[in-house]
Amino acid sequence: MNNINESSPNKFRKFQEIANSLFPSAFRDKRDALSENIVNAIDHINRLRPENKGPAWLGNNGDLAIDYQSIKTAEIADKLSCCEDVINETVALFNGMPNWGHPLAMCNTIPPGNTASIIAGIMAQVFSPNMLSGEYAWNVQRAELESAGMLANLVGWDAQRAGGVYTYGGSGCWTYHVKYALTRVLPNSREEGIRTDAKILCSQQAHYTMMNSTDWAGLGMNNVIRIKTDPKTNAMDLKDLESVLIALRMQNIPVASVVCTMGTTDANAFDPVAGVRRLLDRYRNAAPYGRALLYCDAVTSWSWLAFQKYDFTRNPLQFTEALLPFMKNNYRALQNMKYADAIGFDFHKAGFAPYISSMFAYRDASEFETLLQRPGSAYLQSRTEYNPYDYTLEASRAATGALAGWATMKYFGYEGFQAILGTIMENHHALRNLLNTESATVCVNANDHGMVTLFRIYPKGVEAEQQYQQELCDPAWKPQLLAHNQLTQDIGNKLYQWFRTGKQINGKFTPYMSFTTGFCVTEYNRDAADPEAKVYALKIYIMNTHLTPELMKHVLDCVIAARDEVVGDAVRF
Ligand SMILES: *Cc1c(COP(=O)(O)O)cnc(C)c1O
Repeated sequence: MNNINESSPNKFRKFQEIANSLFPSAFRDKRDALSENIVNAIDHINRLRPENKGPAWLGNNGDLAIDYQSIKTAEIADKLSCCEDVINETVALFNGMPNWGHPLAMCNTIPPGNTASIIAGIMAQVFSPNMLSGEYAWNVQRAELESAGMLANLVGWDAQRAGGVYTYGGSGCWTYHVKYALTRVLPNSREEGIRTDAKILCSQQAHYTMMNSTDWAGLGMNNVIRIKTDPKTNAMDLKDLESVLIALRMQNIPVASVVCTMGTTDANAFDPVAGVRRLLDRYRNAAPYGRALLYCDAVTSWSWLAFQKYDFTRNPLQFTEALLPFMKNNYRALQNMKYADAIGFDFHKAGFAPYISSMFAYRDASEFETLLQRPGSAYLQSRTEYNPYDYTLEASRAATGALAGWATMKYFGYEGFQAILGTIMENHHALRNLLNTESATVCVNANDHGMVTLFRIYPKGVEAEQQYQQELCDPAWKPQLLAHNQLTQDIGNKLYQWFRTGKQINGKFTPYMSFTTGFCVTEYNRDAADPEAKVYALKIYIMNTHLTPELMKHVLDCVIAARDEVVGDAVRF
């Protein structure tokens, strides 16, 4: 301290002025660099919007501007730069990036963020609340606590007993559940490590993050058992689950958890939670192992629950009558999540908010928080009642996700979710009607009605419906299945290339869509023993509300044009 006081005032002013200039002056009343540069950046945001409804990427130059060979020569500059320049360079990074809010963006479960959630997230960036303790976040912690309450009430849990923590995505939620399950089922595993091969059971169509979570948790990826799915509904087959549970019980191998995917990423299939709960109650782990956990991975589809408050008789939002039963089915399937011990919710998927905003919610807060309790830290004090640093995976915890998720629920209410999801379903309905009238196309997830439509398109003249049934059921048709899988992939890649290069069909840009290289196995390959006998499909994942039935027609026209070009290429070479 003495040194600073003794240094010459001029020299002191120089470095301190520089240092001060780098931060917003949150306690001064004049406008400063932060608010001015935010205004500047907002101008840029407008300029990143494509002119004349350009292709579904940002800005007006879609080229990839990364020179992978030389990029690592980057170095920190010697001198101070100016904030405006850095912002300008930052804006340039966004050129060519997928524009999730564009009507033609329909590639995956990636929504544009809603306005309130973006601004709430920016507030977290400006003031840096740290959600690890009450002392460092103060009232901002209401965002996390109220989110846990709102979600528990949405699911039908006792909200007073339930709890939840925001974390790093659906993968973080999966990992949290693995940790919770292992801690509950394997006594002393926190102290001594995981010494027993407890099993995690999930369906064949569960998300690949099952590998991340079991690997990073130290359980080992080989301890995942994948339960067969029904080829029609893509949901978990309870008979197969029961036989696996019996076999494990007979060998006295503990089950850590069963995962119900509540909305698979590709097909929006819902696993039968109530049936899983009955089986878990019947086949319990023997002592000394604890009760297996029932986890619902609902990250992509949870918000269909908003329809439980819809007045289906009056239909106030005037949805197409034919869609009302699908809306009901979705929320009813999700209502069975009340039987789960824990649920993963992504706001950056079915919540239409920016990354990363996921809540891992649990039905019994005192069990979870006690099981995972650690001795506190010497430098953190418990100033309020809520201090998750004692049991969360993370130490510092950003509030961006919590504020985005909370602001979304406050902003939308039930009605907002209903309006968004209804708009999406109406557009899928239009698409599926078109697929039905076109003889060379077939929808392959016709039994579920979420935000995704999967379909196959065959060469001109092929009766798609019949052809697909043969390929799905009859091993003699495997060569055709594989040839048309390849065709599907080639068309998907062609469409991607068209999207990137800004191609137009009938005077309109082409869609940004995608494909799956195996969303389900064939009927004769239900144990997935044959790695080839699976179904590829083109995929349209609608996450924004600007689409119209006319545009869906255009999308199908583009797919047909891509098919014709791919088939033409094949003939030429
Ligand atoms: C996307 C997804 C995940 C992973 O979630 P992230 O938020 O990407 O980490 C897990 N499960 C399902 C079903 C998903 O769709």
